[in-house]
Amino acid sequence: MAAEHLNVLIIGAGLSGVGAAWHLQNQCPSKTFALLEARQAIGGTWDIHRYPGVRSDSEMYTYAYNFRPWTDSKVIADGATILKYIRDTASENGIDKKVRYGVKVVKADWSDDTATWTVTTERQVDGSPKQEQITCDFLLSCAGYYSYEKPNIPDFAGRDDFKGPVVHPQQWPDDLDYTGKTVVIIGSGATAVTLLPSMTDKAAHVTMLQRTPTYMANIPERDRISDTLRKVMPDMMVHRLGRARGVALQLGVFRLAKAQPKVLRGALLGMAKRQLGSKVDMKHFTPNYNPWDQRLCAVPNGDLFKAVRSGKASVVTDHIDRFTAKGIKLKSGQELEADIIITATGFNIQLIGGMTLSKNGKAVNLSKGMAYRGTLFEGIPNLGMIFGYTNSSWTLKSDISSEYICRLINYMDKHGYDRCAPVNTDPSVKPEYFVTEDSGAGSAGYIQRALEMMPKQGNKAPWRVYMNYLLDLPALRLSPLNDGVMKFSSLRKGNNAAGGRRAVA
Ligand SMILES: Cc1cc2nc3c(=O)[nH]c(=O)nc-3n(C[C@H](O)[C@H](O)[C@H](O)COP(=O)(O)OP(=O)(O)OC[C@H]3O[C@@H](n4cnc5c(N)ncnc54)[C@H](O)[C@@H]3O)c2cc1C
Repeated sequence: MAAEHLNVLIIGAGLSGVGAAWHLQNQCPSKTFALLEARQAIGGTWDIHRYPGVRSDSEMYTYAYNFRPWTDSKVIADGATILKYIRDTASENGIDKKVRYGVKVVKADWSDDTATWTVTTERQVDGSPKQEQITCDFLLSCAGYYSYEKPNIPDFAGRDDFKGPVVHPQQWPDDLDYTGKTVVIIGSGATAVTLLPSMTDKAAHVTMLQRTPTYMANIPERDRISDTLRKVMPDMMVHRLGRARGVALQLGVFRLAKAQPKVLRGALLGMAKRQLGSKVDMKHFTPNYNPWDQRLCAVPNGDLFKAVRSGKASVVTDHIDRFTAKGIKLKSGQELEADIIITATGFNIQLIGGMTLSKNGKAVNLSKGMAYRGTLFEGIPNLGMIFGYTNSSWTLKSDISSEYICRLINYMDKHGYDRCAPVNTDPSVKPEYFVTEDSGAGSAGYIQRALEMMPKQGNKAPWRVYMNYLLDLPALRLSPLNDGVMKFSSLRKGNNAAGGRRAVA
């Protein structure tokens, strides 16, 4: 039996997949499509992460879609509210009906003969994995950037000596009771910074154990300007104004960090000191790198500072020697007692959902080529990937990348093409790592561990990954599609005037 064929297959029904489906429905209404989702639910990141206090780090006017207003008065929003926003977007637009749940994409092969992808999926049938095939004209990966199955958990010496629970936030047990317990959180990223103040309500004491301090910015959880404007303006207008302010602020702070790092450093450390008071040692809040060399952590309404100042929580800067029966022994000789250890030690990067790729049956390795506009891949036909910003809200980029893909699909239809692939013929384009040191996350551990396996970017457009919304917006929305780098062709019989295979530059 011939495999089912759809025009577009979207891998993943998280924030990016639902957004991409919305853009596709609106910009390419005649296209048939489905979202293949490995899990049994919509929401991705916001469904899998269930730890106490889980929330956004970005403000929601930029983190929400560009087509659906954020109307909640909290702009640093909790995970459940974000999940509801994504699911409501899906159900209001019939996107939930397009999701095929429990279907994991494991491989995809492009054929120049048929100008289609043959996608192999796996789903559980009566407890055993069953493979099936489906074909499509365009494959769009919205599979996020990290492995859901394997979070990053370092191999701590003495791990088995500790008898209490050791929990990774990505795998939070529903029944973990930390009432009256002493908790040590290993890590200093956004997850640890979120967890610490959220656990002090029940825990006896919470310690955040970090190797190096992180910059933290105290930001208001609510946006009073938008709350006021909402009384007199339509939601979408308030949303757009909030986005404009958010974009300006995010880019302004990022540019300031790069141009005047000492000024921003002084401001951030001054803010932290005022919040923490004189009794807390500032060495735990004073990073040895410049702001935005790694992602800046938001502290809504100063919650972490308040928790530390109250004495219910503390921050320790040291290195782990080993786990012991009672807790964690540090390189300094100090021992931290713990009933529960939380390993907020981050992710393992995984792109395109971990599937294997091939072209005409020959294996393809994405890390050997460059990404085009951060969204397509050198020499690989009809494959897109949605990868948002690391120094700003993910969705700012995911929306305009999806819009670009839709523009590309419409252009191909209009000109009778069925294959597009970016090809570099300029020898002066030099490959660089996909995430660079100056992108706001380049030196983060999870990025460093994965740089070699990620696709490269080029040192100039259109191979450059800007991580800058104001540069990407015109490039993705307005730039000519037939730019000499993107090569279009018409391969299917009857798909062009000549009625046969015809390569078109
Ligand atoms: C706790 C937390 C807080 C965050 N906060 C922010 C923030 O404030 N601002 C910000 O910009 N970013 C933030 N991020 C980054 C965040 O992951 C992105 O903003 C965004 O959620 C990514 O959405 P996505 O749909 O691309 O990927 P995901 O949310 O990861 O969804 C991917 C989906 O694809 C599915 N999938 C994966 N592989 C396959 C496969 N092979 N076959 C089928 N389905 C597959 C998954 O099951 C999942 O449902 C945060 C991340 C975390 C973990």
